[in-house]
Parts: sequence; structure tokens; C-alpha cells
Amino acid sequence: MTEKAVLVWFRQDLRLTDNPALDAAARTGAPVIPVYVLDDGDAGGWSIGGASRWWLHQSLKALDQSLRGRGSRLVLRAGPAGRVIADLLKETGADAVFWNRLYEPFAICRDTDLKSDLKEAGVEVKSFPGNLAFEPWTIRTGENGPYRVFSPFMKACLRNGAPARPFAAPDVLKAPEDWPASDDLDGWTLEPVKPDWAGGLREHWTPGEAGARQRFDAFLDGALDSYAKSRDQMAGETTSRLSAHLHFGEIGIRSIWQALDHREAEGARSVGKFRAELIWREFAHHLLFHYPTLPERNWRQSFDAFPWVDDPDALQAWQRGQTGYPLVDAGMRELWVSGYMHNRVRMVVASFLIKHLAIHWRHGADWFWDTLVDADLANNAASWQWVAGSGADAAPYFRIFNPVRQGQQFDSDGAYVRRWLPVLKELPDKYLHAPWTAPEAVLLDAGVRLGENYPKPIVDHAAARARALEGYAEVKNA
Ligand SMILES: Cc1cc2nc3c(=O)[nH]c(=O)nc-3n(C[C@H](O)[C@H](O)[C@H](O)COP(=O)(O)OP(=O)(O)OC[C@H]3O[C@@H](n4cnc5c(N)ncnc54)[C@H](O)[C@@H]3O)c2cc1C
Repeated sequence: MTEKAVLVWFRQDLRLTDNPALDAAARTGAPVIPVYVLDDGDAGGWSIGGASRWWLHQSLKALDQSLRGRGSRLVLRAGPAGRVIADLLKETGADAVFWNRLYEPFAICRDTDLKSDLKEAGVEVKSFPGNLAFEPWTIRTGENGPYRVFSPFMKACLRNGAPARPFAAPDVLKAPEDWPASDDLDGWTLEPVKPDWAGGLREHWTPGEAGARQRFDAFLDGALDSYAKSRDQMAGETTSRLSAHLHFGEIGIRSIWQALDHREAEGARSVGKFRAELIWREFAHHLLFHYPTLPERNWRQSFDAFPWVDDPDALQAWQRGQTGYPLVDAGMRELWVSGYMHNRVRMVVASFLIKHLAIHWRHGADWFWDTLVDADLANNAASWQWVAGSGADAAPYFRIFNPVRQGQQFDSDGAYVRRWLPVLKELPDKYLHAPWTAPEAVLLDAGVRLGENYPKPIVDHAAARARALEGYAEVKNA
């Protein structure tokens, strides 16, 4: 009799190491059929954005190669995930399906329904904790509710102790007698073709498990040591740049945690600060799990009263890096070219959109969703609401980042702005973050013609600040 296989449904866990669902499937001793389902229709309005699609293509390719190195392969199918999985079970005669859990509201609904349907049909269904260090429902306040403030949440996580130890990758995976048919990855056209705008992404990133490991190792041996001191510096590699690898699950959080514990024991500096940032990721997922409308609605309802402005021209200027504020424009160019933006610059550009332009944070979150390689529903929504002041434990609304001062403080030698806005590279440091303050002769000397090859500011900082504070008064009185 043919041995029944186990399906392993890969989702945001595109790795072999520290993959609990894969590990459990391999341990059954049965043949394992790894599958990835492209399900654009079932994403609750959050189908994967352009830059993430490019990343996904590379990551699936890398995963298939790693699986082939272990006598296996990745089966690709497109369509509504529930139906595809049910069809594959029938087609292959497999009687079990394992996956690692997701926390997006639409994924939870889909997976819960599928689990109950399949169980009813006699299929063994197992889900595992693979993507977070702490399952969102396990961290509870004294009143047995979810946390709304970060610091006590972090303390509760740390009290919980280290997450479970990571699993090694299985050495071999038993193949089924017959492989089910697979779609052709290129046929999914996840990569842009006409035009091919992904050159910058290719230049900056190596998606896949090996690329993730390499980046993490480089960070451990490099920027980690000065992370606490330097992470706000915008130029250079002052942070780990692991966000997209983490989003796609190319590196497991438990592997990271364990490596950090080792480094801490060896006396490495900054481990606590870095771990705190990883816990912000946990917090964002905790919030999304407990408040599933986070990506769509103000977490603080009083913000519904804010008088947002509908200004498509200003939104476009922001998206294209044409606001006339060099730090904002450099950030938006970095995003467009590389699919990434430094965290502090993200805060500045988000604050600019929301507070200087009075444009709803949802428009910014949508743009980030499409252009970031690390677009992540929980992190993106929680961060945008944090900047807006409408979120949990958010920045106070009246804290309005001044893009000029932020630039002078965290890009004091101008290396970041000069890299992403070469048109300004000849401007002296003194004027770089506020070119409109430079004397005409200085501009001329630097080849900068305001309003021609670089825009004049589209809003005046002081006036925009005053308008934002007036809007906030309406929120307070709501
Ligand atoms: C407006 C805005 C939107 C954002 N959108 C996203 C997004 O879609 N996806 C995303 O992963 N991050 C998002 N962030 C958070 C943060 O900017 C990025 O995680 C970070 O810049 C990624 O760079 P890194 O990997 O070098 O971070 P590091 O500083 O090396 O941090 C390590 C990891 O911790 C996590 N992390 C760090 N900061 C945060 C944070 N504030 N919230 C949640 N997790 C965090 C990330 O997984 C990150 O990879 C956003 C921030 C802002 C202000």
C-alpha cells in the first residue's frame, strides 16, 4: 500500500531551519509534500504589494533549491488556499497537513475554517508556533487582557523566559512516490517585466534563507555592538536589515534569540536594545491579533474627528520624493529604489505626510505596503498608527518631527541625503537639509536651481505645524 504523505503548507516561513511544521512532518517518517499557495483573492484586501512580490519570487526559488538539496521540492499552486489544499490532499492521497501559524485577521479566519472542515473530513491538521517568539494570546495583563502599552508588554515577554530552542533543518525529506504537478514560478509573474523596475532591489538584497543567515551573521559581527548608540544614524548599515527576511520567515525568531543569548553571555553590547526592537515586532502582532481592525481603523476612535485633507498632488509629491524637504525626499527615493527605508527616516516621512500634509495615515500605509520589501501588516499598521498618534502607546500627536532638525541631528554629515539625492550633493552641510535657506550664490555654485532641478518646499514647516495642532484640538474635543 502507498504510504500516506503529509502536506507542509509554507506561508511566511520560507526556511528549513527552525521550521516547526516541517520538522514535525519530517519526524512522522512519512513522505513530505512541501507546498506554497499563491492566494491573491483571500488576503482581506491586503494582497501582496509589488516589491514584496519580487522578494517572494526569489525566496520561493531559494526554498525550492534548498528542498531539492534534501531530496524534495516545492509544489506551487495558485488559487483560494482552502480549496487548493483540499484538492491537493485528494489528489495526492495525503492524510495530514501541517503549517506554522499566521496572525493576520483574514489568515486566522481562513485557517480556522479550513482546519475544522479538514478535521471533519478525517484529515490530521496541525498548526505550530513558528513565526513569533511568543504567541499573542500567551502574554496577558494581570487582568487577563491584551497589553496596550509596550514597556509592560516587553517585561511580560522577558518574564516568560527565552522562547523554545530552534529546530535544526531536517537532513533529508522523504519524497512521495509521485510528485503532484506544480505551477511554473515564472508563470506567476511576481517579478516586474515591462518595465523591470526591480534593478535596485536586486542590487540591495539576497532573499532566501542563506541570504538571511548571511545578513544576520554580518550584523552579529558588525553593527550589533554599536546598535544601541548608532541605530538612529541614517547612513550606513547601522541596523540589521533583517525585516524582510523576518517577514517572509527566512530566518526564525528563535534562532535569532538563541544567537543573541550566546552573544550576551560572551559580553556583547547592545543585545538588550536589539531584542527590544524584536519585541516591538511581537507587540505589533499582539495588537493586530487582539485588535484586528488595526490596519483600517484608528485604534483611538477619537482620531476619527481629525480633519484630514484630500490633496492628491501633495500625496504624489510625497510618494515621488518631491516635497522640497531633503530628508523626506531622500527617504522616499531610498524606498523607491531599494524597497527599504531606515526606521528613523520612516518616522520622519510618515510624520510629514500625516502632520505637515494632513493626509490620512492609511494613504501612507498603502504606499508603504506596495513599495516596501518588508511590508508586514502588523508592523506597518502599528507603526503608522504610532506615528499618527492614533495607535496604542503611540507618539503624542503634538510631537511633530521637524525634518530639517532630524536631518541635522541624525545625518549631520549629509551622507544619507547626498546618497539618495545626488542633485544636492554639492551643497555645503550647513544648507543641505534646508536648501531654501542657502544664499543664491551658494545654490548656483552647487548647481541647485530651486523649483527647477529640486523643488521648493511644498509646505512651510511652521504653518503646517500650526494647522496640525489645530486639527489635533478637534481630536481632543471629540
Ligand atoms: C511608518 C512606519 C512603517 C513601518 N512599516 C514596517 C513594515 O511594513 N514592516 C516592518 O517589518 N517594519 C516596519 N516598520 C518598523 C521598522 O521601521 C522596520 O522594522 C525597520 O526599519 C527594519 O529595519 P531593520 O531590520 O534594520 O531593523 P532593526 O533595527 O535591525 O530591528 C530588528 C527587527 O526588529 C523589528 N522591528 C524594529 N523596529 C520595529 C518597529 N518599530 N515595529 C515593529 N517591528 C520592529 C523588525 O522585524 C526588524 O527587522 C515601520 C516603521 C514605521 C515608522
